[in-house]
Amino acid sequence: MHCPFCGAADSKVIDSRLVADGSQVRRRRECIVCKERFTTFETAELVMPRVIKKDGARVPFDEDKLRSGIQRALEKRPVSIEAVEESVSHIKARIRSIGEREIKSAVIGEYVMEALKELDEVAYVRFASVYRRFTDVKEFGDEIARLREEKN
Ligand SMILES: [Zn+2]
Repeated sequence: MHCPFCGAADSKVIDSRLVADGSQVRRRRECIVCKERFTTFETAELVMPRVIKKDGARVPFDEDKLRSGIQRALEKRPVSIEAVEESVSHIKARIRSIGEREIKSAVIGEYVMEALKELDEVAYVRFASVYRRFTDVKEFGDEIARLREEKN
């Protein structure tokens, strides 16, 4: 990739290590022209199945939506960002391992509930019943946010 400082086309890798449980490579690079150093992260991009929503619509898998749904469920709970990231990776791996081209959003929702159970028992117990009324991770997150506001 181009140097973010001077735009030169070439940089050399001076350090390379696995991070995020081995699912990412962190590379320290040095521009061969201006000698500035910068870091890149490399992740394998694997094709995720399309998501079948409750109304039958097919939408692309949205990792950010998955992450924000989990984060909202865990708001104000003692769970680290690192643990949330591990859960997201784990859920994605499960979704891919099915090997289908499409997956129901309700199935993803069940995976999220199982992940929450591992992460934080309180959040899980509190919200499992709420989720079961929905089939979408985002709807679930919105409902949790609403319930929180009512309590405050
Ligand atoms: Zn440069």
